[in-house]
Amino acid sequence: MDATEVAARATDLYKTYGSGEAQVIALREVNVELERSRFTAIMGPSGSGKSTLMHCLAGLDSVSRGQVHIGDTQVTGLGDAGLTKLRRDKVGFIFQQFNLLPTLTAAENILLPLSIAGRKPDREWYDTVIDTVNLRDRLGHRPAQLSGGQQQRVACARALVARPEVVFADEPTGNLDSRSGAEILSFLRRSVRDYGQTIVMVTHDPNAASYADRVIFLADGQIVDEMRDPTAEAVLDRLKGLDTPAAATAKGER
Ligand code: ADP
Repeated sequence: MDATEVAARATDLYKTYGSGEAQVIALREVNVELERSRFTAIMGPSGSGKSTLMHCLAGLDSVSRGQVHIGDTQVTGLGDAGLTKLRRDKVGFIFQQFNLLPTLTAAENILLPLSIAGRKPDREWYDTVIDTVNLRDRLGHRPAQLSGGQQQRVACARALVARPEVVFADEPTGNLDSRSGAEILSFLRRSVRDYGQTIVMVTHDPNAASYADRVIFLADGQIVDEMRDPTAEAVLDRLKGLDTPAAATAKGER
């Protein structure tokens, strides 16, 4: 892949937790390139290393060995100040629990990362984002006055308004009913197709993964397969193959 087409890359990534008898190998020799302006889903059984991979890619967690790049920035090796700057300027996050500040209005939540960075929003882009997530008439509301789906739409707008290099989403529909979840996924897909955003989403839901352009499958800390233009059925079939007794045994033996 041409370097300009890669939004994030992991090279020979290795991550362990703990030491000695209690050591857990969460990622082993992971090599992956995540394409720019694409929607990539990371899937795998519980404990396969999905969240660890996302956290390492986003500079939220240190790696034990190997390298991570976001764009042309080498994330591994950055100090605290560099990591703070990276998280502020290059990445956006969408969490399962929305993580909005309860005392701020929707508009204030959306603009908070930019104001912390001392940046002014691009007015035209802000308007586009607000209209795309359909929040125009809710901007003065506080999170407690919004439904779960609306709160997650605020979180999506917050992630996108700074036009980050990559948006990382961790089970973004995990707390939503299926209709609100579908809205969020459609919106994420649209931000990729129409606006060229790059999105990396961790999910265990084959239906959510079917909105992505590409699915990467993890098992036992390794990438074991990938799928382009996935359907929910094909993803489910592939996952069944990963949740084998053999995989469970291998995990138990660690
Ligand atoms: P997934 O997101 O696929 O469920 P994780 O990335 O959370 O998997 O975890 C991968 C492995 O690393 C699991 O065996 C998990 O128990 C272990 N792990 C994750 N985080 C920690 C941690 N902070 N300390 C110790 N072990 C951890």
